[in-house]
Amino acid sequence: MAGEPQDDCLFCKIVAKEIPATVVRETETTLAFRDINPQAPTHVLVIPKAHYADAAALAAGDPAAAADVLREAGEVAAQEGADSYRIVFNTGAGAGQTVFHTHAHVLGGRGLQWPPG
Ligand code: IMP
Repeated sequence: MAGEPQDDCLFCKIVAKEIPATVVRETETTLAFRDINPQAPTHVLVIPKAHYADAAALAAGDPAAAADVLREAGEVAAQEGADSYRIVFNTGAGAGQTVFHTHAHVLGGRGLQWPPG
């Protein structure tokens, strides 16, 4: 069923505390933790606790949780002292998505180029 935990999902396991993560913020509906392979001084992933494969599926299935993720991305940036930052949702393998549980990358703490690769 939409939003239910998936046995084979890495980020569902992090939500369930079966796999450790460096958590920086948590709400009833979201979890924010440091990326294991940081691409910037600030690189935090903000995820909904509910399982949706990507950002569009989350927005369609649970718009309130999608808004929570965006709000928390901003809160993470503020907490990290990043006044300029980027929020990225890689969507689909061709765009670099490797974990199919919605996650916002919050990147900051250095200059960021545009366009991205
Ligand atoms: P994607 O490539 O946009 O799907 O992003 C997945 C991100 O998850 C990558 O930046 C990985 O470095 C990160 N990642 C993978 N496993 C873990 C973990 O166990 N803890 C924290 N981050 C992880």
